[in-house]
Amino acid sequence: MGAPESKELVGPRATTSLVSRASPLVSTAQQLKTLRQVDLSKLPNQGVFREKLTPAGIDIFQINVGKLCNMTCRHCHVDAGPDRTAEMMSRETVDLCLAALDKTTAKVVDITGGAPELNPHFRYLVEQCVARGKHVMDRCNLTILLTGPCRDLPEWFASRGVEVVCSLPHYRQRNTDLQRGAGTFEKSIEALRRLNAAGYGRGDPRLRLTLMHNPAGAYLSGDQKSMEREWKEGLQANHGVTFDALIALNNMPISRFLEWLEISGNLQAYMELLVNAYNPATVPGLMCRNTLSVGWDGRVYDCDFNQMLELDTRYADGRTAHIRDFDPQQLATRAIVTARHCFGCTAGAGSSCGGAIA
Ligand code: SF4
Ligand code: SF4
Repeated sequence: MGAPESKELVGPRATTSLVSRASPLVSTAQQLKTLRQVDLSKLPNQGVFREKLTPAGIDIFQINVGKLCNMTCRHCHVDAGPDRTAEMMSRETVDLCLAALDKTTAKVVDITGGAPELNPHFRYLVEQCVARGKHVMDRCNLTILLTGPCRDLPEWFASRGVEVVCSLPHYRQRNTDLQRGAGTFEKSIEALRRLNAAGYGRGDPRLRLTLMHNPAGAYLSGDQKSMEREWKEGLQANHGVTFDALIALNNMPISRFLEWLEISGNLQAYMELLVNAYNPATVPGLMCRNTLSVGWDGRVYDCDFNQMLELDTRYADGRTAHIRDFDPQQLATRAIVTARHCFGCTAGAGSSCGGAIA
C-alpha cells in the first residue's frame, strides 16, 4: 500500500460495527495477527513490547457492562454500537462484581461500556457502589444524556456524587463529527449544558466533570495541560460550557481504529510512531498495574484494551480469571498480558483511562 492520503479520520459519517459487517477483524486473533505482521524489524527491539508489567494493587475496579451504544464512532476500541445488544452484563454478574469489589480495597469504581447507561442494571450498580462509599465514575458519551430514559441522569448523578467522564474528541465541531458522526458535537454541547445546570463542571469536587480527548487521526495526543487550557477557553467562549479537567488519550490500534488504520494506509506509520515514541517513564503509571477490568460476561482482564482483545487474565495455575471465582491474592501475583497494542499506552506522554501518565 502506498502513502496514506490523509492521517485524519476523514469520511462521510460514523461507521457501523465490525460485527454487523462480519469483518475479519471481529476475530481478536486476527487483530493480534494484523499487529504482529506490521514490519517493525528496523525499530528498537524490533517493535516487540518487552516490558514485564507487574500489578501494584487494585485501586480502580473497572466494570464494562456491555457493548451496546447509541453511537458507532470510527475509533471505537470496543466495536460498540446499536446492534451490540447481546453483550450486556446480567444482574447476576453485577452482583458477582459487587461481591468481588467487597474483597478489594479499591476506592474507585469505573463503569464503562458501550454506553453503560443503557444497561438495565446500571442504576442499581451505581447505587450499590455509592452505598459502599466508593467513588463512582461513569464513562459517558454525552449524547446518551439526551435520549428518553437517560434525560434525568445529570441530576440523578449529582445527587449521588458520581463523577462523569465524558468523551468529546475535540472542542471544535469538525474534529468531533469526523469521529462520531454529523450532529454529534451539537448534541454533546447540549448534554454539557445540562450537566452544568445540574452543578457539574463548576469546581465542586463532589460534582466533577472530566472531558476525555482522543486525536481525530493517526497521531498522538497533544500536551494534556495546554489542551485543557485551550478547551476551557474555547468551550466557555463559544458555548458557555465549563468543565473541571481534560484527559488526553491515544487511539489504540485495535478494533475499529485498527480497521481504519488498515483501510486508510496508516497502519505501518502509526505503529512506527507508537514504537518510536516509546516512553519508559510511563510504565510505573500504566493502568493495568492498578486497575482490574471486568467484562460484561464476568471475565477478568488487566485492562479494557486486553478485554477487547480477549487477552484474559490468568491465575498462576493457568486458569482464566472469572469474577465468580475472584481471588485478589492470586491476582496480585499475576503476569500482566502484553502485546504490541501496549505501545499505544506507552507512547509519548502515555495514555490510560486517567489520561496522560508522564
Ligand atoms: S467510542 Fe464510545 S461512544 Fe463511540 S461507539 Fe465506542 S463506546 Fe460508543
Ligand atoms: S494495553 Fe496498556 S494498560 Fe493494557 S496491558 Fe498493555 S500497557 Fe497495560
